[in-house]
Amino acid sequence: MKLTPEEQKKQVYYRDARTGGYYGKIWTTVGKCVFCDLRNKYIFHEEHGMVMTVALYAYIDGNLMIIPRRHIKSVKELTEREWQTTRKMMYIAKKLIRKVHGLKDVQYVIRDGGAAVNSTVQDHLHIHCIPSDSPDMTVWNYRTLKHTPLENAELYRAQSKQIVALSTKYYEKYAQPSSVPISCSAIIMNKDGEVLLMENSQDTRLPLKTLMLPGGYVEDFSVPLENELGRIVHDQTGLSINQETLTLIGSHTERTRHTMYEPHLGTSYNTPQIFLLNTYLVCDKTADHAKVTPATGPQPSIWMNIQYAIESKRVPSGTRTMLRKVLKLQ
Ligand SMILES: [Zn+2]
Repeated sequence: MKLTPEEQKKQVYYRDARTGGYYGKIWTTVGKCVFCDLRNKYIFHEEHGMVMTVALYAYIDGNLMIIPRRHIKSVKELTEREWQTTRKMMYIAKKLIRKVHGLKDVQYVIRDGGAAVNSTVQDHLHIHCIPSDSPDMTVWNYRTLKHTPLENAELYRAQSKQIVALSTKYYEKYAQPSSVPISCSAIIMNKDGEVLLMENSQDTRLPLKTLMLPGGYVEDFSVPLENELGRIVHDQTGLSINQETLTLIGSHTERTRHTMYEPHLGTSYNTPQIFLLNTYLVCDKTADHAKVTPATGPQPSIWMNIQYAIESKRVPSGTRTMLRKVLKLQ
């Protein structure tokens, strides 16, 4: 990255702020929350609303930070997903610091609210990942830094392959299946014994031509799962289903691969994902489901004879198992 002399001067100003003794003064002129206004050029990884970025005013070379996009004060306000992502990023941080700076030890300093120093920074939860080269870091001896913030960001961004590999490895080795997302899907049949299937146009985990049942991830846990399924089905097909008529056909965990796009690294990668899938049969004899045509739903959908669907290679095997169950029930 080519910088103008003025830009480079600014970088050096950031780099030397702590040892130069002017760090404390900077905050008297900053009126906004700096962590709500993160600059892309310093970010090198982002997932599920959590960001990995270098510290603008580093304690030591390689100092990086994990910050939620949301302006929250405390770890306790993190969602399950943000917390799982934080755990993963702490793991990536440790490995990166070792690879880039040759240091095995890392200290994680979590700023969790607090009244000290200044409110613009302390109000927004952030986790410092600080390479540790000797035990004296706990008395905050600031170092003379070799790298500016931009140089630090570039050092980490150059590890994009490593970040992707670590991200995948984390999901395979350390992710806790105790916090799996819940997905619900609906088997909707018409009077002609046809089942409603949707062409995959958005889900990058599956091949384009895959035919899926209407359904998706539960987002609102304050209502019954059946209500959430009703909302999802309506969004996808325009169809209103009577939640009273739903019968649970199957409930099991599924393992799939999810393609993540990482905008800061400009790369896509697969991560394994486990989720609980509940499949419901809509047993509403009065509903005129045949009204749903590919034109009415936002996503292309088709009616397919259930026997034909069970034999179709375009229908995922898990879905075909559920359809077989439905046939046995009838
Ligand atoms: Zn903020």
